[in-house]
Amino acid sequence: MKAIVVGKDHQPQVTERTLRPLKYGEALLDMECCGVCHTDLHVAHADFGDVTGTILGHEGIGIVKEVAEGVTSLKVGDRASVAWFFEGCGHCEYCTTGRETLCREVKNAGYSVDGGMAQECIVTADYSVKVPDGLSSEAASSITCAGVTTYKAIKESGVRAGEWLVLFGLGGLGNLALQYAKKVFNAKVIAVDINDSQLEFAKQYDADVTLNPKEVDVAKYIQEHVGGAHAAVVTAVAKQAFNAAVESVRAGGTVVAVGLPTESMDLSIPRLVLDGIRVVGSLVGTREDLKEAFQFGAEGLVVPKTQLRPMEDVQDIFKEMEEGKINGRMVIDLRH
Ligand SMILES: [Zn+2]
Ligand SMILES: [Zn+2]
Repeated sequence: MKAIVVGKDHQPQVTERTLRPLKYGEALLDMECCGVCHTDLHVAHADFGDVTGTILGHEGIGIVKEVAEGVTSLKVGDRASVAWFFEGCGHCEYCTTGRETLCREVKNAGYSVDGGMAQECIVTADYSVKVPDGLSSEAASSITCAGVTTYKAIKESGVRAGEWLVLFGLGGLGNLALQYAKKVFNAKVIAVDINDSQLEFAKQYDADVTLNPKEVDVAKYIQEHVGGAHAAVVTAVAKQAFNAAVESVRAGGTVVAVGLPTESMDLSIPRLVLDGIRVVGSLVGTREDLKEAFQFGAEGLVVPKTQLRPMEDVQDIFKEMEEGKINGRMVIDLRH
């Protein structure tokens, strides 16, 4: 079968691979498609360590072709996911308290184990989440990473219906965050981005307010006009956005960090203590979060903007991503 692996030059490469036989508890997926995520760039470039030869991809959707002994959660014909949270140990303090993505022995698809950018993929059946009917595989692929990440981040923010949520960054992640915030959480949303075309996009998706930090002091505007947001979710990858988020929330507000710039943020201790601000990090989502995020997609509340591309385009897609030219999510077609 054909697979996209990390090449010796740290670029994605289409190659021929043969998978090993299934072990107890595993399922074999005939892959339909797999989205390309910014994390794949980091993995290919060895930013988290060299994984040359590993099959990339953690936004995969496939149809179960075969199940090994011991599998009860999936059956042949089901559609299921290949996610960044590929498998936890199942018995540690995180795995047993609803925080399984923090498991210290976690396996990540397309990084520490072979991922979903291939015509076939082996998954640990109990960790592969079933895709509900009514949700296309392309849409499901984007929800497997970008969708569940933003859905979980908004959950972590604790924002309630009618409250103000400010979103920093309206790219691939932010756009999905906006849809979950408006349609699922029923929040009032302020969209912040330095790119006017992303803000135009945000208006089409019913953002209540759009702000460009190049034109307006975002934190000052939000404090003056709505008395500070109840919560902020930062998917932008700039330190300034994290700092502005802390200044944008009201007393008791929560800032959820999702974007991954490599710098440190400034954090005023008096602001933190005197105003009771919470700053929390949020990493992808649990299997239960993904199940919920899929369901809202199946109900039509959240519609990822995707574009199907052939496997052979993968190097071009990575280049476009590095150059920031991508609008929505690129999804690799793996059907054969
Ligand atoms: Zn991802
Ligand atoms: Zn664990």
